[in-house]
Amino acid sequence: VARALVGADGVGSFVRRWLGAPRGRFSAQAVEVDTEPLPSDELGTLAFDLSDAELRGYAWDFPTPSPATSAGARDATPLVCRGVYELAAEGAPRRDVGALLERRLREQGARALGPPRRYAERGLCLHEPLGAPGVLLVGEAAGVDPVLGEGIAQAIFYGATAGAHLAASLARGDESLEGYRDVVEGARIGLDLRARALAVPLVYDGARALVERALVGSASLRELGARYFGGERVGRGLVARAALEVALEVGRAALSGPSRPT
Ligand SMILES: Cc1cc2nc3c(=O)[nH]c(=O)nc-3n(C[C@H](O)[C@H](O)[C@H](O)COP(=O)(O)OP(=O)(O)OC[C@H]3O[C@@H](n4cnc5c(N)ncnc54)[C@H](O)[C@@H]3O)c2cc1C
Repeated sequence: VARALVGADGVGSFVRRWLGAPRGRFSAQAVEVDTEPLPSDELGTLAFDLSDAELRGYAWDFPTPSPATSAGARDATPLVCRGVYELAAEGAPRRDVGALLERRLREQGARALGPPRRYAERGLCLHEPLGAPGVLLVGEAAGVDPVLGEGIAQAIFYGATAGAHLAASLARGDESLEGYRDVVEGARIGLDLRARALAVPLVYDGARALVERALVGSASLRELGARYFGGERVGRGLVARAALEVALEVGRAALSGPSRPT
């Protein structure tokens, strides 16, 4: 008999359903396809395109290795994976992400190298159960970043956090694994996911125009975002500079009206 169960079984998590945990406040869909690179693609860059203000999500162009040949070699020229991510809004009709991707490929002049691949994802709700006595959920089974649908780094952090909790609990003979939620909430993964859940209305809802304006107007906010996203240290000085620049932008917006930056 197993002493503990860790549900690391992804978005459709059987363990999560078995626990009777709800599906989650955030749900998202994504579609992607590989294409040949275009001359305009920067192959060292991950491009997130949030220019469609009607979309609660974004389109992406990410370089991706070309598939290995039957001899195992890979072509030196990478392909570009292009996709669309949409976060559902309560009560609002879903967009057809497949049609959005097709339209974007046409506009870009990119040719799909195969049929599009569709996926469902789930974002995090911190109030939801993260487990039960003797059971822990990690990664997408527990929930990941609702803003961008990012979950690889988060899954690794969950693993490290859950692994340490599991080892410490079992070492003292505690098979209930009690306290996991508190451990997650106090760990970097919990802080990160809480910040990202709080960012949903800022990025996609009422404050979107203001946030875009702040991003365009504040070099420090852009640097802060890039450093955080890249897993680098964010110093207090940078946070203070970004806060000051954002406050100035908000003040300017209040005087001139919150127009959307180009
Ligand atoms: C199109 C798309 C693009 C993405 N791009 C990014 C990105 O650029 N960056 C990023 O950070 N994240 C990205 N993500 C999200 C990221 O892939 C996931 O958040 C991450 O893989 C979650 O890791 P996980 O280990 O929790 O789950 P998974 O990676 O889904 O692993 C779960 C595993 O459990 C196995 N499993 C499921 N059920 C059972 C069962 N009953 N028995 C045994 N095994 C089972 C599955 O086969 C799978 O191997 C993307 C997701 C999608 C759909």
